[in-house]
Order: sequence, then structure tokens, then C-alpha cells
Amino acid sequence: MDPASLRIAVIGAGPSGLATGHELLAQGFTNFTIFEKAAKPGGTWHLHTYPGLACDVWAHAYTFSYAPNPEWNASFAEQAEIEAYLQRCATAFGLDPKIQLDTRIVSLRFDEADAAWTLESEAGEHFEFDVVISAMGNQHTALYPSVPGIDTFEGDSWHATRWNHEVALEGKRIVIVGSAASAVQIVPELAKVATQLTVLQRTPNWIMPRGRQIYSRRQRNFFRWLPGYLQAVQKGQRFLMSLVHDAVTLGHKRMEDFEKRARKFIHQQVPEGDLREALTPKSRYGCKRGLVSDDFYPALQRENVELVASGLSEVTKEGIVTADGRRIPADVIIYCTGYRILDFDRFAVRGRDGRRLDEVMGETPEAHKGIAARGFPNFFFAVGPNGLVLNVPYFVTVERNVKSIVSLLLEKQRQGARALEVREDLHREYNDWMEERFALYSWGSASCDSYYRNAAGRAPFLFPGDFKTYERLHEEGGIAEYETV
Ligand SMILES: Cc1cc2nc3c(=O)[nH]c(=O)nc-3n(C[C@H](O)[C@H](O)[C@H](O)COP(=O)(O)OP(=O)(O)OC[C@H]3O[C@@H](n4cnc5c(N)ncnc54)[C@H](O)[C@@H]3O)c2cc1C
Repeated sequence: MDPASLRIAVIGAGPSGLATGHELLAQGFTNFTIFEKAAKPGGTWHLHTYPGLACDVWAHAYTFSYAPNPEWNASFAEQAEIEAYLQRCATAFGLDPKIQLDTRIVSLRFDEADAAWTLESEAGEHFEFDVVISAMGNQHTALYPSVPGIDTFEGDSWHATRWNHEVALEGKRIVIVGSAASAVQIVPELAKVATQLTVLQRTPNWIMPRGRQIYSRRQRNFFRWLPGYLQAVQKGQRFLMSLVHDAVTLGHKRMEDFEKRARKFIHQQVPEGDLREALTPKSRYGCKRGLVSDDFYPALQRENVELVASGLSEVTKEGIVTADGRRIPADVIIYCTGYRILDFDRFAVRGRDGRRLDEVMGETPEAHKGIAARGFPNFFFAVGPNGLVLNVPYFVTVERNVKSIVSLLLEKQRQGARALEVREDLHREYNDWMEERFALYSWGSASCDSYYRNAAGRAPFLFPGDFKTYERLHEEGGIAEYETV
């Protein structure tokens, strides 16, 4: 069967939806639509606009391997630049005509007789496709703290994920709930304008210096005219990232080296005393996402800024109450409290025998090699449970995942199969193998309390190994791991 005859729906036009579209076209699959609920492609980098938002991974590493960007302005790119890059990529890859914007998919149903998926949009339209690839992103739905009174606050409040640009923050008393990835970027910006900025920290994070370097015009010309130089810089940046795998491996010397480096950074930036003590992490490196920032610690030491080393216990009409009983009045409360990770109840998916994806995933989300789930034929995740590798940039794992998915589809077409469903025994074997490996890493060990581990103590977010292992597993895989009908 000709690849062009296969009808494929991709959901989401962020980095992984674009990578999927690129790979589909490269392999001759032309009959596909990328559904995107937003008004523009770009995913995270279009949807989020909070002050200070920038990528915490080196710019040339956080880039499609087939679309190097000599124009990055600095060694760490800011949101607007990444959004523009992704939108340029959509055009350059020939995906603009394939992307259907402003279309939120709310449900999917697999019809066994036709081996086809019916998708329904929020507006009530129905679409039929043979294959669905979910590229909806895993850090998407705002997570609020579950404390009483959130709705009673009489000032303005919002989650960092949907910034309210209508409210002027100059001269306001602002409370930031949370001190992790988004807070370290937002705090230095708001510290410049707020009368009083209170940062609520439940647990401290490991923070490394970022050392952001602005690229001069001359340097960018070098990147443009000397592709070998650009590749070398990208390789260097990817190498730095690759060290992270060792640094999150329990018992590895590099974990101590990273912790020592981060501790030295605190000592250089924060004088001895309560603040330094409060900012010094008690968990091992990598239990929570390692952060980079040059201006978070200095911002916390401004006169108008206070770090409160306590969680949130209640929100009142006038402000907040901390876990240790302190009442803090506020004009604005901003929740930097993260995301519901891998929230499969975001859309209603019914697979074979009417089984529901959110129920199957439940507290123990599992996928085969991060891309397929038993019971859901012809349905794939661009980045599913444990389908992300920590020691490479997001793009590298996504490109690997979609390469595997599209090569499965090519083989399916060659064999003339109607549907592919991962074999139950291999799915189980693979997940059991992973289960034994989680305890090797700080983020997967029982002592770690972070978004990497869910309420049931499972660690469904990351792959428990390095990219070399992940890639080998994918290369060894293929259609033999699937039942075909
Ligand atoms: C604020 C923030 C900062 C981040 N910073 C970094 C960073 O510094 N470094 C890093 O490596 N990673 C970072 N990440 C992770 C980041 O999400 C990934 O790097 C990457 O953008 C994910 O790409 P994606 O395409 O898989 O998902 P997303 O970028 O989330 O894109 C998913 C797309 O699917 C669309 N969509 C979702 N549901 C539906 C639906 N039902 N119907 C239609 N369309 C739908 C969304 O609108 C979105 O456009 C950050 C994430 C967030 C939220």
C-alpha cells in the first residue's frame, strides 16, 4: 500500500508535532493533518509568555537536527525567538498547509470493523483517520496547589502558564507560589517592578550558573558560513547535556561534582545565613529538574524581595497564609506550581473494546518504548510515558520517537496490514525492565518527591537510562514487536 494512501492525524503543532510532520513527509506520507488548538504553531513556546521565559538548554542543542539555526542570538534562547524559529520551521518543512489551527480535539474513538479512528473537535466536527499520533505535550495543564480559599482571593491571580498581561505589576505586592523552573525566571523580572515580592519555597532546587553568552553578528556569520563550526558548537552543547545522565545516577561521582559546583555557586552568590541555608537543597541532584540561572539568587537579596521557606496552606480574601502560619497580604498571586504531567484525561480516547486511555493509564502510565500503548491500535505518542531521555535535548528524543513511529507505518504499508498493536508480552517485559531501573536514578528513587514521580510512587516521565541505550532499544525494535491485522 502506498504511504500516501494512509490517513494520519497528528494532534499538536509544538516541536513534536512539527518533527512528526517533517518525518512523515520525508518518508512519503502526504495524507495527514496536524490539528492544533491554538491560533499558531509553536506549542509551549507559543502558548507561554511569562516574563523572563527562556530555554534552560543551550540554544544550538535545543534545535531540530535538520534545521540548524545560525541566527540564535545567544547561547540560551528566549521564548519569542524559539517561537519564531518553530514557526519558520513549520513553513520551511512544508507543513503550513497541513496544520489546521484553532481546532481542539476532544475525543477519539477506534472503530475495530474499519480499523479507523474518529476524531471529534470542540466545535463538533468529525474527522476519520487510519492512524493517530498524539503530540500534545506533557507539560501543559496548569497544576494549582490544593489548598482552601484559592477562589476567595479578591486581587488578581493567575498561573504562570497563562500570563495575564492586562495587569500592571508596577508598585504591587506580589506573592509567587513556588520556586522552581518558572519562578527562577519570573522572580528576577518582577523584582524590578514590585513594591514587595514574596517567593514561597517549599523545597529548594539545585541551580547552576547559566553563563548566557550573547552571540555577536560576527559569530552568527561564522555559524552561517561555516556549518562545520556550527556543528562543532552544537556537539559541544550536546556533550555538556550528556553529562547530566551521570549526574543523576545515584552513586556516580559526577552527582557529587554537580552538587559541589551548585553549592559553590550558592556560596558565591548568597552570604552565610538563613537565606543561604534555606536555598541549599537537601535532596540529591536530579531528584527535581536541575535549574540554571544567573539572576535568581541576586534577585532574592533585593530589599523588596523575601524568600519564605514554607509552603502554602491557605489563600484568603487579602492574601495567603503559609504552612507555618504567617499571613502575607498581596495584590497579586502568581502560581508557579507546575503542570499536571501526562494527564491523559485531557481528551477522551477510546481504543479497542472501548477501553479508555485515561483509565488504562491511571496511576501507572506505561508505554512501549515511549510510543505505543497496548489496547490502542494505530495510536502513537510522539512522547509518551517514559519516552523522554534526560541527557539529550528534547528534540533528539522526539526525532528518535517519530522516526520509529513512521518506520512502523512504512512497514505496515509494505505488509498491507490494516492495524498495528504492540504485543502484550513485549509491552509488559519492557515496562518490568524499566521498573527495576528507576531506583538507579535520583529522580526515580523512593526518597524523591518531585513531579518525576506520581502519587502512586511511579516514575512515568523519563526513560531510566541514557540516550545510547534508548536508541539501541528503538533500533532493535520494529514491526515484529507489534500484532498486525
Ligand atoms: C513554561 C515551559 C518552559 C519549558 N522550558 C523548557 C526548557 O527550558 N527546556 C526544555 O528542554 N524543555 C522545556 N519545556 C518542556 C517543553 O514543553 C518541551 O521542550 C517542548 O516544547 C514540548 O514539545 P511538544 O511539541 O511535545 O509539546 P508542546 O510544546 O506542549 O506542544 C503541544 C501542542 O499541542 C497542542 N494541543 C494540546 N492538546 C490539544 C488538543 N486536544 N487538540 C489540539 N491541539 C492540542 C497545544 O496547543 C500545543 O501547541 C518547557 C515547558 C514549559 C511548559
